[in-house]
Amino acid sequence: MDKRPETLAAQALHRIDSETGAVIAPVHLATTYARGAGNALIGAHDYLRPEGPTQAHAADILAALEGGAGARLFASGLATAMAVFATLKPGAHVAAQTKMYYGAKKLLHHLESRGALTLTLFDPDEPDALAHAVRPGVTELVWIETPANPLWSLVDIARAADIAHGAGAVLAVDGTCAPPCTTRALDLGADMVMHSATKYLNGHSDVLAGAVITRAQDERWQALCDHHALTGAVPGPFEAWLLIRGLRTLFVRFERQSANGLKVAQALTGHPAISHVLYPGLPDHPGHAIAARQMTGGFGGLLSIRLKGGAEAAARLCASTQVFIQATSIGGVESLIEHRKPIEGPSSPTPDDLVRLSCGIEAADDLIDDLMAALERG
Ligand SMILES: *Cc1c(COP(=O)(O)O)cnc(C)c1O
Repeated sequence: MDKRPETLAAQALHRIDSETGAVIAPVHLATTYARGAGNALIGAHDYLRPEGPTQAHAADILAALEGGAGARLFASGLATAMAVFATLKPGAHVAAQTKMYYGAKKLLHHLESRGALTLTLFDPDEPDALAHAVRPGVTELVWIETPANPLWSLVDIARAADIAHGAGAVLAVDGTCAPPCTTRALDLGADMVMHSATKYLNGHSDVLAGAVITRAQDERWQALCDHHALTGAVPGPFEAWLLIRGLRTLFVRFERQSANGLKVAQALTGHPAISHVLYPGLPDHPGHAIAARQMTGGFGGLLSIRLKGGAEAAARLCASTQVFIQATSIGGVESLIEHRKPIEGPSSPTPDDLVRLSCGIEAADDLIDDLMAALERG
């Protein structure tokens, strides 16, 4: 029977351990795997780099949830991004967003400064900007992130795929902020989707990992696999096992985080200390129409606010909440708050009055009461 994604996630693909009947797959810590007659492997794995059974199980779940042909786990989200960039020809032209996760943008600039690639940045809020950024027959990769951390610009994946493919480029989507329970980028035309599994996919702020899932097992997939095997930027078995556990509850966590995100965004709208509430689920958000089409399982728990009192007010708010924890990262079951600009640095387009909120699964009223009291304290 063809099972739905919620079922596949909750049951971790219904894999019952054949030796013991255990309903939960064991964590396989072995670094090496035995061979028999003729040097033939007994099982499917030979050595823990590139992967063992636990990493392969997690990757299989992600391939199923994204509807992809192949998936590989990496040691972090950025190690995954690096794997994608490493498949490019030397000096390849890449189009990416001005507003995107600052770490991935820093990595692109770093590679550009070393001559590994050339970069054209486009504004994701300008509908025609991507079409102007690509160079037909030259651009090899279009890299988009939607919604884009931390301003939550929305990019139409299907349209970006048409533009990328029209120019002969590959479309890669950083789907960290829209996990497959709400957006399936490959179904919309992307060639590959990558995640920081550190965020929503694991969801408990206790695993650093990344993943890439591709639509086809083509030449670029092979190049990703080669990079995966040769560079060793892979997660350990215990991280992979925790990721499998986290994925079991992805759908219910995301549903609750989306409900909390919307309630918090609505409660903060019109507050006298706040100039902007940036949340894809609000009808007046510039990307709301795209989000409504593309985020079919909820708008998530991520939002940002901009404070009329500027950087000082933003810093004070983050230091004075008692439920929201002042810490970096997103997508976990506990709510986090962060003043972004000092983290991202002076070259970032993030305004210095911006506070990023990652809503967890707590009682929505506790989140709202906490923010209201902290804003009141000013
Ligand atoms: C955190 C993050 C990354 C990087 O992931 P790590 O696991 O921290 O390396 C990439 N993209 C987005 C959108 C992120 O939020």
